[in-house]
This record gives sequence, structure tokens and C-alpha cells, in this order.
Amino acid sequence: MLNRIATKQKLFIRGVQLGDTLCTLCGRKEETTSDILISCNISNVVWNMWYKWFGVSFVNQNDMINNFDHFSCMCCNKEGNRLWKYVWASIIWCIWKHRNSLVFNQDRINAVEILTMAQVQSWAWLKHKVNKANFSYWAWI
Ligand SMILES: [Zn+2]
Repeated sequence: MLNRIATKQKLFIRGVQLGDTLCTLCGRKEETTSDILISCNISNVVWNMWYKWFGVSFVNQNDMINNFDHFSCMCCNKEGNRLWKYVWASIIWCIWKHRNSLVFNQDRINAVEILTMAQVQSWAWLKHKVNKANFSYWAWI
């Protein structure tokens, strides 16, 4: 969120020799934090699948902080919004992990796999971080 992750753009600025600075997921724009995690075509597919799975309607904000603020206020109470923050972080984390898997393990892009990992990750984080989130994984998905 603070634009400190090692995207290709950041690595290039630090003098790391790269073949290009294009987004690892879509290959269309420069790989910036907000692009790869929020506005990239592939990330957008993941976010939209998430909204569809969860049954909510949401328009992604292209800026990380605005996206987080908007996403974490989807509920009408403090506890509900706290849950959404974990969900948001799990989606971000899984997109970034998948991106790194593409870079270091030459995996293939798989938006469904990212969604599935985000479902597992969010459930695990909610289960261990939120007292009231006492539900099974099967109830979650
Ligand atoms: Zn992209």
C-alpha cells in the first residue's frame, strides 16, 4: 500500500538490470504496485471473480489507498469492515505471490488459482485473527 514492494518499476529505479519493466501478469503496462495488484487486466479478473463469488457489486479504485479505503468500508459496522480488511489483504497477497511464482518458477497465469488461494488465505486469516469468524472452510466457500 505504501508502494514499497519490489515491482519491476521499483527494481529498475534501483538499478536492477531487467529485460523490461512490463507487468508480469498482463505484459501491457509498466509494472507498478497499483497496476499489478489492482488495475491490471488479470488482477481485475481476480477482483471481479471475487465480487461475483461473494455476491457484492464493487467498482475497483485504481489507486491502492483508495481501493483499500473503499473496499474496507463495504460493511455498515466496524467489525464487518475489519473482516473486509483481511479479505482485501488476502487478495493482494495472493496476487503478489502468484506474480512471484510466475517470475521465479515460470508458472502460468491462472486467475482461478489466484482466487482459490485468496479464498483459502482469507479464511485462514479470518479464522485466526477474528474471534467471531468461527466457521469452517466449507461454510466460507
Ligand atoms: Zn498488468
